[in-house]
Amino acid sequence: MQKVLIAGSIQQPALDILSQRSDITIDCCPDQTSEEELIDRVADVNAILVGTTPITERIIDASRALKVVSRRGVGYDNIDLSALRRRKIPLTIVGSANASTVAEHTLFFMLALAKQAIAYDRATRTGNWRFRDSLLASDLLGKTLLLVGFGRIGREVSVRAAAFGMRVMVYDPLIPGPAFGEFPVEPVKDLLHGLAICDFLSVHVPLTPETVGLIGAKAFVVMKPTAFVISTARGGVVDEDELVNALRMGLIRGAGLDVFKHEPLSPDHPLASLENVMLSPHTAALTLECARRMDAVAAQNCLDAIDGKLDPALVVPND
Ligand code: NAD
Repeated sequence: MQKVLIAGSIQQPALDILSQRSDITIDCCPDQTSEEELIDRVADVNAILVGTTPITERIIDASRALKVVSRRGVGYDNIDLSALRRRKIPLTIVGSANASTVAEHTLFFMLALAKQAIAYDRATRTGNWRFRDSLLASDLLGKTLLLVGFGRIGREVSVRAAAFGMRVMVYDPLIPGPAFGEFPVEPVKDLLHGLAICDFLSVHVPLTPETVGLIGAKAFVVMKPTAFVISTARGGVVDEDELVNALRMGLIRGAGLDVFKHEPLSPDHPLASLENVMLSPHTAALTLECARRMDAVAAQNCLDAIDGKLDPALVVPND
């Protein structure tokens, strides 16, 4: 028998993928189960399917029979990669399963910010009809979007933004020039140049030592005061303190944020009281359809690792 530990809940169709196999037993624990409890539970586990629970070196070392860590997502900053490397255990992700959904959330932020969704809704409900004369809303048509990071999600955003008549620029120095060819985008080599000319900035890079604070004080100084900043990537890529400062000083016009340095975001955090900010609780990928797609791929990755036939495209490079 092979044992799969699910840390957090997964959708029923994904559970069915695992439970229909007679050689698989399933153990479940809540999301954010403590390190100590996980250490006690993993000795005989062959696959860990995980959402946002940290999988630390101590947990990995205690999992003597482990064959895979399967992330139900594509970011993996909660997993200790070097501990997995030492044990030669693969980490899998769900590939493109959530890319279109996160791209839709990005467009949702862009539209809601441009169209002043919250302010106009509030004005209508409170009888402030003449607020319509403020002309605070703006078009996406003809505006410039800068995408920082042009992987699975950035690409999905680019085609949707182009459909709105936007000019789409891309900063992703890790992608060879010709790879941009099939997309309606213009690569920029200099991040500050892209930041200076964009009307919308949307961030789609992983959280790594290189990307921490990638969008910080230097960025906000060069951006247009009319520009909007959107992040559905990871908290920490956009420097939150500098962002709050920029929003307060009017260095930029507004922001849409799905991810935060510390989650859940405290209601006392300055971002929570700024009017020119739209927030969501790390839900960019959490539609029912997307949760089902991600969980099914994550469950299949567990089985494929156990069966020795992992899809290399879903294994995180870890040499
Ligand atoms: P991906 O790996 O396909 O693309 C990431 C891109 O970032 C790559 O093209 C890479 O070249 C680029 N990149 C890396 N470092 C860079 C740097 N310093 N400057 C510019 N570009 C750089 O990943 P993806 O599927 O597009 O997802 C992107 C990120 O979005 C994930 O790492 C994850 O953290 C986040 N995400 C968040 C949610 C959510 O619920 N909010 C859901 C899915 C993904």
